Amino acid sequence: MQRERGYSYADHSEPNPVVSIGSPVRVLLLGAPGVGKGTQAKELKQVWGIPHISTGELLRAHVRENTSLGLVAREMMARGELIPDLLVAQMVAARLEEPDAFNGFILDGFPRTLSQATWLDSRLSEAAIGASPIAISLKMDDEYLRHRITGRRNCPVCQTTFNIYVNPPSRDGYCDKDGSALMQRDDDTEKVFEERMRTYWRLSAPVVEHYRGHGRFAEVCADRPVEEIAGEIAAAVDQVRIQLD
Ligand code: AMP
Repeated sequence: MQRERGYSYADHSEPNPVVSIGSPVRVLLLGAPGVGKGTQAKELKQVWGIPHISTGELLRAHVRENTSLGLVAREMMARGELIPDLLVAQMVAARLEEPDAFNGFILDGFPRTLSQATWLDSRLSEAAIGASPIAISLKMDDEYLRHRITGRRNCPVCQTTFNIYVNPPSRDGYCDKDGSALMQRDDDTEKVFEERMRTYWRLSAPVVEHYRGHGRFAEVCADRPVEEIAGEIAAAVDQVRIQLD
C-alpha cells in the first residue's frame, strides 16, 4: 500500500494501554453526521485500550498537511461530499497496518458506502487481520442532529468543543478555557449539513442495513448522556461476542 513518505497515521501522543479483553475487538461505529460517533469512540478507546480511527480526522490531517490526498479531499469535504471509495480505502488500509491496530480498533466514519463495507469485510476476513467487526448503529432524530452539527464550535488551541444551543461558552464566540476565538468547521454550516444528510440517507444508511443482516450488529439510541450511551455500546459488544464465542 502506497503511503505518503514520512507520514504516520498512528496517534503516538498517548500510550496504548494493555488490551483488557481476551480477543481483539473490532468495532464499527455507524450513524449520521453529528450523532456522536467520535465522542463515543474516545470514551470506548479508554475502556478497550484500542485505537480510535476516524476517517474524518485522518482526512482533515491530510488537508492540513497538504498531501496529495488532502488536496483532493479539501473541496469535497467543504461541500459535504464523500471522498472516492478507493482513496479512503487506501488510507484506511494503511492505518490498519499500523501496529497499534493489530489488537483491535474502533472505526468511526468508515464504512460510509456499501462498496466501502464490502471492501472492509473482505479485508478483515483475510487471515492476517482477524475476526469480523461488530457494527454499532447510533440513532438520533434528524432535527436534533441539525442543532448538534450547526451549533458546534471548536477551540483551535485546546480542542474543547462547545455548542451554541446546548453547551454555549460563557462569552459568545470565545473559549472558556483559554479565551481563543472559537471556530466553526467549514462543513458544519446549514447548507453543508443538508448535503451531508442527503449523502447519509442515500449512501450511508444502506451500510447499516448491510450490517444488520450480518448478525454482528446492535442499535443504540444516541440521544442520552455520553457515559450512558458508552455503557450500552460496551454491553452490546460484549453480548454479541458472548453469543458468537
Ligand atoms: P466526519 O468527521 O466523519 O463527519 O467526516 C468529515 C468528512 O470527511 C465527510 O463529510 C466526508 O467528506 C469525509 N469522509 C469521512 N469519512 C469518509 C468516508 N468513509 N468516505 C468518504 N468520505 C469520508
